[in-house]
Amino acid sequence: MVLEHQNQPLVYKEVSIPKPGQGEVQIKVIACGICRTDLHVIDGELTQPKLPLIPGHEIIGKITGIGAVVESLKIDDLVGVPWLGYTCGKCKFCKLDKENLCENARFTGYTIDGGYAEYTVVDARYCFLLSDKYDNPASAPLLCAGLIGFRSYHMIGDKAKNIGMYGFGAAAHILIQIAKAQNKKVFAFTRDNDSKSQSFAQDLGAFWVGGSSDSPPEKLDAAIIFAPAGELIPKALQDIDKGGMVICGGIHMSEIPAFSYDLLWEERVLKSVANLTRQDGLDFFELLKSIPVTTQTEFFPLIRANEAIEKLRKGQIRGAAVLVMHQE
Ligand SMILES: [Zn+2]
Ligand SMILES: [Zn+2]
Repeated sequence: MVLEHQNQPLVYKEVSIPKPGQGEVQIKVIACGICRTDLHVIDGELTQPKLPLIPGHEIIGKITGIGAVVESLKIDDLVGVPWLGYTCGKCKFCKLDKENLCENARFTGYTIDGGYAEYTVVDARYCFLLSDKYDNPASAPLLCAGLIGFRSYHMIGDKAKNIGMYGFGAAAHILIQIAKAQNKKVFAFTRDNDSKSQSFAQDLGAFWVGGSSDSPPEKLDAAIIFAPAGELIPKALQDIDKGGMVICGGIHMSEIPAFSYDLLWEERVLKSVANLTRQDGLDFFELLKSIPVTTQTEFFPLIRANEAIEKLRKGQIRGAAVLVMHQE
């Protein structure tokens, strides 16, 4: 499924199977999750995609080809491919161990072709070798929704007890399982009057659920915003206690309305999460050894990608949407 021009539906077409170059592996895609970032790419809110582009950066697949000098992976290995597809290792940020901020980074499904396809080719250093228990299309959302949720959660520190999650979709439904296992109280905020998402959050053990304009019954220690709505920033600042933190987990948000300094006063912190590091991936999959999470997914065949994207755009997906490749 190819994005030829932004703001247009993807086009289903035959392309040649990509061959792995030096340092690369060829992957037969099992499934690829649809992330909200893909919507921002398709809808033109992220302005620098390669075009034409095969989107998708929540890839589960098996290695079918190995390029020169790759020694870390072999044919038939199960791998996961995330958003971060390449970093330079030389810039100021790479040298500070902040490769997520690399000046020359490349991103899967944005500046590199991604996983809305039967085959893809990736730099072997940026995919994760996975155990067989992830050999299932339902694992795909772990590669971004899971990872970015984890990075956001890690950022608030382990002392935060009352945690607000704003936007209860793919990322939050994974993260709540980790937070619950660590005895946190989760306050889930959905679109106002979205009773389906609220009951979903309740089923997953949220301490409290409500609409985004409702006030939580207790002050929050931290808030993580997954919905791309700028007006949630002053709202979340209002909901957190002194010294609390608001983390914005998305790559794009609508404009933030002006707000009074009182909301930030008393050492409240507002911070964004950008991309991920490879270490995040290693830490995340290590954590999942002791905290098993189950993803709730809606599967679509690749050819129905546009329909799946539209459902996600309208907030009609419970959990995560995943494109499943045809397996002969
Ligand atoms: Zn760099
Ligand atoms: Zn993503």
